[in-house]
Amino acid sequence: MRFDIMTLFPDMVNTVLSESIIGRAQKAGHIEVHCHQIRDFSENKHHNVDDTPYGGGVGMVMAAPPIYGCYRSIVEGRDAQAKRRVIYLSPRGRIFTQDVARELCAYDELILLCGHYEGVDERIIEEIVDEEISIGDYVLTGGELPACILVDAVSRMLDGVLASPECYEGESIANGLLEYPQYTRPPVFREREVPPILLSGHHENIDKWRKEQSLALTKERRPDLYAAYEAAEKNAK
Ligand code: SAM
Repeated sequence: MRFDIMTLFPDMVNTVLSESIIGRAQKAGHIEVHCHQIRDFSENKHHNVDDTPYGGGVGMVMAAPPIYGCYRSIVEGRDAQAKRRVIYLSPRGRIFTQDVARELCAYDELILLCGHYEGVDERIIEEIVDEEISIGDYVLTGGELPACILVDAVSRMLDGVLASPECYEGESIANGLLEYPQYTRPPVFREREVPPILLSGHHENIDKWRKEQSLALTKERRPDLYAAYEAAEKNAK
């Protein structure tokens, strides 16, 4: 999959996405991440990209023309058949979840617009954006961290990025439940022992214990997920 990220702070995005698993996925060619500096498309002699809001009010609004120029430079000459979606990261958007991430895996190209200041001129949203996505009910200073979160969550479900689909299929949220507790060496840490069942080598009992832990944790911490899980189980019967 190819990600094109329109931003005023490309270094911020590149720094985050060039590390660890997502950095390796780029080097191995499983994903491509291209950051585009919106300021390069300002026709203003001072390279301004924002202005005061019409109607008054605090802060600055990112103007439509440089964002449009940036967008045109990304899409011009590109494969018309490619399955592409343009997303504006915004606190007004659909809440980003594992299901939304899974849905976005179906695209060949995602173009992400990162706002800053008071956001972007509404007309650029009308002109180029397919969907607004929010990473949660809080407000950040810019769309760069939300864009990194979206790229990370989508990429790790693409072929080759993790060792195998099992790496993400059994995880918290992905299967509708929170994950059971995990342990590794040493067997005793500050007098805390690893649950003996995990050292038993009895895989059936281990699976049963993990499922029980998973259900208990979900019931305690996320009654909303637990209720949905119970309803789905009931329907399946
Ligand atoms: N004035 C805007 C509003 O009330 O909806 C908030 C602007 S916010 C300070 C600046 C930028 O940060 C937004 O344009 C958006 O790109 C990004 N942003 C902030 N919170 C976000 C969130 N929860 N999810 C996605 N993007 C967010």
